[in-house]
Amino acid sequence: MFKVSKKLNLLPPYLFLEIDKAKRKARAEGRDIIDLGIGDPDQPTPDYVIDALNKAVEDPANYRYALDQGMPVLRYAIAAWYKRRFNLVLNPDTEILPLIGSKEGIAHFPLAFINPGDFALVPDPCYPPYKGGVILAGGKVHLMPLLEANNFLPDLKRIPFLTRKKAKIIFVNYPNNPTNACASDEFYAELIDFAKKNKIIIISDVAYSEMAYDGYKPRSLLEFPGAKDLVIEFHSLSKIYNMTGWRVGWACGNPTIVAALAKVKSNIDSGIFSAVQLAGVAALNGDQHFVQDMCQLYQERRDILCSGLNSLGWKLNKPKATFYLWINTPGKVDSISFAARLLKEADIVATPGVGFGRYGEGYIRMALTVNKERIKEALIRLKKIT
Ligand SMILES: *Cc1c(COP(=O)(O)O)cnc(C)c1O
Repeated sequence: MFKVSKKLNLLPPYLFLEIDKAKRKARAEGRDIIDLGIGDPDQPTPDYVIDALNKAVEDPANYRYALDQGMPVLRYAIAAWYKRRFNLVLNPDTEILPLIGSKEGIAHFPLAFINPGDFALVPDPCYPPYKGGVILAGGKVHLMPLLEANNFLPDLKRIPFLTRKKAKIIFVNYPNNPTNACASDEFYAELIDFAKKNKIIIISDVAYSEMAYDGYKPRSLLEFPGAKDLVIEFHSLSKIYNMTGWRVGWACGNPTIVAALAKVKSNIDSGIFSAVQLAGVAALNGDQHFVQDMCQLYQERRDILCSGLNSLGWKLNKPKATFYLWINTPGKVDSISFAARLLKEADIVATPGVGFGRYGEGYIRMALTVNKERIKEALIRLKKIT
C-alpha cells in the first residue's frame, strides 16, 4: 500500500545484514563461529574514559539538550589533539564540529552541497555511507575504482571531463577500509591540485589514522599546502579508543564547509549526550599509551594471521595500517561463494568484498578483532579446507 521513496529504492542492498543472519543461524545451531567479519574492536574502552563518563552522569547539568555544535571543552580538546598529533592549528569555534559518530556526519554531509543531478566522486570498494549519503541527497555517484594495480588509490586522470565539471565532492579514506591501503604524499598533493582545478570539496575520512604499525604515522590531509581551502576531514573516537558504541566523532577543516554541515545537523539532531562528550574529552586528553598498546596488540595478531595465511599459500602483504586484511579469493571464486564456503566448512565469518562495491569482487576482508588463540584456531581450520 505504501511505496517507499525513489531515493530509498536506489540505496544499494545492505549485504552485511545477510551475513549477520547467516552468522546468527550458525551460532544458533551451536557451531563455534570465529567472527572475522566486523570492524568493531573486541577490547574494552579504557578505564579512564569510563570513569569520566560515570562522573559526568552524576551531574544533572549534563542531562539537558546539548549544544548541537558540541561543548566548547570538547572542541578545545580536539584542537589540542590535532596540534599534538599533526602540528596543525585549528580554530575550535569555527573549524571543528563534533558529530554523533563520524558516520552520521559523513552520511549527512552531501545534503549541504549536493543539488539533484550533481555528481559525487566515490571510491569503490568503500565504506557504505559514502554512497548512501549521496543518494539520499539526490546526487549521482560516480565510482572511482580502487585497483590493486594502482595501490588501491583512485586514478584521478581517468575521471571524465564532464563528470569533473558536475562533481561537487570527492571522498577519500586512507588508511583505507576495506583495502588497508595508505595514501602517498604524492597522491595527496595530486588530489588537492585536482580538486582545486575542478572546484570540488574533498571529504577525507581518517578513522584509522591512529591504527598503524611498524612506525608508520598516517598524515592528515590538512597538513598539505592549500588543503584548508577545500578539505573537510572526518575523525572518530570509535577505533582509537574502542568506543564504537559511544558515538563520538568530529569533522574539521575549512570553516565555511564545516559551517554548512553544522547547519544541516542543526535541523536534524540535538547534539551528543554531554556526559559522552566529557568522556570524549577524557579520552583525547588522557594517557595515549593506550593507543600504542592497542596498535601493539593488532600488530601481533596481524603478524600471526598474515604469516599463517602465507604459509597456506594465500600470498598477502602485511598491512601498514587498519585492522583489516584484504585478501584475493583463491581461483577467482566470487567473494560471496567463498565467504559462504568459509562459514560452512570452517565456521569462519569473513566479509565478501563485493559488499563494499563491485570493484571489491574477488576479495574478502578479514578483521583482526579476535584474540591470538582464536586466530591460531582459524588457521588450523583453514589448513584443513585448503
Ligand atoms: C569505523 C569507521 C568509521 C567510524 O565510524 P563512527 O561512526 O565514528 O563509529 C568511519 N569511517 C570508516 C571508513 C570506518 O571504517
